[in-house]
Amino acid sequence: MEYKHFSHHHNLNLYQVHQGQTFHCSGCETSCTSDSIYACWQCNFFLHDHCGNANRFIKHPSHPSHPLILLPSPTYCSGTFLCNACGAAGKSFSYCCATCEVDLHLHCAFLPPKVNHKSHPHELRLVHTIPEKEAFCDHDCKVCNNVLQSKQWGYCCVKCDDFHVHTFCATNEVKPGLYLDDDDDAGLDSGPVEATQLGLFQSGCEDQLEVQLSEEAVVELFKIQLQMQMAEQLAEILASPNHSSPA
Ligand SMILES: [Zn+2]
Ligand SMILES: [Zn+2]
Ligand SMILES: [Zn+2]
Ligand SMILES: [Zn+2]
Ligand SMILES: [Zn+2]
Ligand SMILES: [Zn+2]
Repeated sequence: MEYKHFSHHHNLNLYQVHQGQTFHCSGCETSCTSDSIYACWQCNFFLHDHCGNANRFIKHPSHPSHPLILLPSPTYCSGTFLCNACGAAGKSFSYCCATCEVDLHLHCAFLPPKVNHKSHPHELRLVHTIPEKEAFCDHDCKVCNNVLQSKQWGYCCVKCDDFHVHTFCATNEVKPGLYLDDDDDAGLDSGPVEATQLGLFQSGCEDQLEVQLSEEAVVELFKIQLQMQMAEQLAEILASPNHSSPA
């Protein structure tokens, strides 16, 4: 069976990864070593199951004011984005709010809300802002000892005041079912039902129509956001003293 994904111009095939095989996911830029992947063999284009099925837009608790939209590649001139969660650059899929310049790696958008780490006896919770130690003073990550900037996300112990770690030091787990719909629990089971619910792979199935319509509406919204942004930037350029009009 072939699938069409919005990020790639060829059809994709589902492929079961064998033990010892490694593929590079073009969605999240990490490796796929198990489970099934979506593959275009002529382009060496591969997607994790969950990256291929990721929803076109999500309501994310880190940015409740706007939906975040899945972009296949960054729209910035640099061709990269800086992830608000982990602070690292990315050049593949991102969840983005163009109005607020919020960009998340796909895997960062689906970090588990709670994890356990072998370096600490208590459960760690995902926070979207690290509390500052003192004014303008960032914490050090308790796993790698490097600086943990307060504008980045981290995992913090609820019992101990001072135990904060980088998201990527705490876990490489993803929970792709999170934040899919208004129904919080619905996304947690995975499987073929989820893929159809998302309506990403167009198979001509009519009950996907509703999802696709609202998806189109959000893409429309995204275009409007971009246009507003460009209009604002243009207005700024026109208003700036450096824009010399012919004398
Ligand atoms: Zn992936
Ligand atoms: Zn291809
Ligand atoms: Zn990230
Ligand atoms: Zn926003
Ligand atoms: Zn760290
Ligand atoms: Zn603790």
